[in-house]
Amino acid sequence: MSKYWSDFVSQLEPYVPGEQPGITNITKLNANENPYGPSPKALAAMVQQSNDDLRLYPPMNADDLKQTIADYYGLKKGQVFVGNGSDEVLAHAFNGLLKQSKPLLFPDISYSFYPVFCQLYGIDSEQIPLADDFSINLDDYNRANGGIIFPNPNAPTGRLLGLEAIEQLLQSNPDSVVVVDEAYIDFGGVSAVSLIDKYANLLVVHTLSKSRSLAGMRIGYGMGSAELIEGLERIKNSFNPFPLGQLQIAAAIASFQDYDYFSQTCQRIISSREHVTEQLQKLGFEVMPSAANFVFARHSDRPAEELSLALREQGLIVRHFKKPRIDEFLRITIGTEQHNALLLDSLAVILGA
Ligand SMILES: *Cc1c(COP(=O)(O)O)cnc(C)c1O
Repeated sequence: MSKYWSDFVSQLEPYVPGEQPGITNITKLNANENPYGPSPKALAAMVQQSNDDLRLYPPMNADDLKQTIADYYGLKKGQVFVGNGSDEVLAHAFNGLLKQSKPLLFPDISYSFYPVFCQLYGIDSEQIPLADDFSINLDDYNRANGGIIFPNPNAPTGRLLGLEAIEQLLQSNPDSVVVVDEAYIDFGGVSAVSLIDKYANLLVVHTLSKSRSLAGMRIGYGMGSAELIEGLERIKNSFNPFPLGQLQIAAAIASFQDYDYFSQTCQRIISSREHVTEQLQKLGFEVMPSAANFVFARHSDRPAEELSLALREQGLIVRHFKKPRIDEFLRITIGTEQHNALLLDSLAVILGA
């Protein structure tokens, strides 16, 4: 607290990301980062772009990147918005599309940044409880609302909602914007992008932080009707007209141009996830079905907090949320084959298995 802070800042409760310890000999399975590096082509593009042109402001509308993304998904450039990480795209969506007189709906267990944005922008919200198996029950969203947002696959559960269900939600809520936060969609889900031309109220948000291994570059994008995108552009141009610099734009374009690297690394993470799931089950864990690059698991008789502390003593960090309904679970990011072996060996020791 400081006497210099405004009343508004004094009452904020900011988002707390998974910790980033400065230590190097630690296995970090707590922030859903990609264990493999970015595409070598993305790295080379950034090196090439590191030249005197950096004295100039970047292209104001990142048109080349928007066109690359539009081509990749079969959209038009005017249906793409880019931002400094998908957190920024989400922030603008909350402020520009989801702040309405009726409450915003989202699942009680989902990305913990959503309530923070609601607080920041003064958005009235209702958290809709997931079913006991952590699935989304569509009927629960049949109520007056000023918008709907959920991650798909959901975070931190990893559960995937099918396209038919999403389409149903769009049909029954034609007057609200429905935001599908697809941060993890490349790890086994089907994107709702194909529904964009049919539903003007759909915004799909993606990030290059997870499946494209560029968390450190901060690049995200939103896709939807030109009408929604224009709303986001109005906010962006009233806040920070240059959210992406030349290096970010170059890295992102090169990443989309290297499909082989992208699909191979995603595939490797998906196979590892299936292996880790099986092995965790053998160690006595119940594991949620995951379509993401992490698993959400609960041990039959050892508390999650105790396991998390024991793993940390062995140099492995996983995420444990001290929150109602999920405090018995660990969220474990899928690492390289070596990371995963280390995790499973350490758990076997801790559990005396
Ligand atoms: C990681 C994550 C994001 C944020 O990604 P950035 O692009 O790094 O800001 C957004 N939504 C969900 C559900 C995430 O897990």
